[in-house]
Amino acid sequence: MLIMIIDGKKIAEEIQESLKEEIKKLRGRPPCLAAIVVGSHKASMTYVKKKVESCQSVGIKSLRFDLKEETKEEELLSLIESLNQNKEVDGILLQLPLPSHLNPHIFMDKIDPKKDVDGFTPENIGRLLMGDPKGFIPCTPRGIQVLLEKSGIEVSGQNVVILGRSLIVGKPMASLMIQANATVTVLHSKSKEIVSHLKQADIIIAAIGKPLFLKKEMVKKGAAVIDVGINRIDTPNGYKIVGDADFDELVDICSAITKVPGGVGPMTIAMLLSNTFKANTLQHSL
Ligand code: NAP
Repeated sequence: MLIMIIDGKKIAEEIQESLKEEIKKLRGRPPCLAAIVVGSHKASMTYVKKKVESCQSVGIKSLRFDLKEETKEEELLSLIESLNQNKEVDGILLQLPLPSHLNPHIFMDKIDPKKDVDGFTPENIGRLLMGDPKGFIPCTPRGIQVLLEKSGIEVSGQNVVILGRSLIVGKPMASLMIQANATVTVLHSKSKEIVSHLKQADIIIAAIGKPLFLKKEMVKKGAAVIDVGINRIDTPNGYKIVGDADFDELVDICSAITKVPGGVGPMTIAMLLSNTFKANTLQHSL
């Protein structure tokens, strides 16, 4: 049945290549991203390292701020304020999760919306709901939308079922899919009859952080599956990274499916770079 394994890595590389060419053409200074990490959350360190390396590969300058686990609210607010004021900085990335004593909403609210390359500030979330192209769209949902477009998967009029309702994936994803004229269902931990909803889906976007949750019997034959999950599972030889969907089972019945790793992850980074480029353009138009 399978028609296509969606190669997110390849599509992301193509996007980064064309971004690199655009950046070379800029007459002013190169775009600059400031990345803030608080504490030593293992996965965060890996993600930020990858983001910084990807910036370098396309000609985006990056500044990295590693703050101690016990950083006080005022210290982080003051760093954000100084980066907001810094004319050499186009984008600000505050890597989540933060240590439990710091409420992320307080800080998201303080990032200048014109530098909010993650798209998490209230202003950008509002612009997303309004369908206003001036705003920044959160990187993972935007990456998924581009993956669907580049893979020729029709969204308009389709039943799209999103597993998960987080602020960084599920909710903005639902908004993008509604704007693209899909009929959208969002499932979460309190949803009833999850399987019967999933069975109606032409496209499933799985973002719940539960390894190999989505099985063959939950999916309609011919559906497309976009797997956002990044889960570490133990194996006899150490560990491996798997998604929220059971790729080996689903590959026989889906029309299209992403891999983990190499699917949505690289697209998230490509969209961060693309948002930073957009922020640079915005700064220069002020
Ligand atoms: P999150 O904030 O933990 O949210 C998980 C969502 O899944 C919640 O809405 C939760 O429902 C729902 N959920 C949990 N168990 C469920 C179940 N059994 N049935 C139905 N819904 C269930 O997670 P997230 O930040 O969105 O991340 C989700 C996954 O995507 C993680 O594996 C993460 O590592 C990965 N991720 C990948 C990328 C990428 O670039 N590839 C980017 C971001 C995240 P409630 O709201 O009711 O609690």
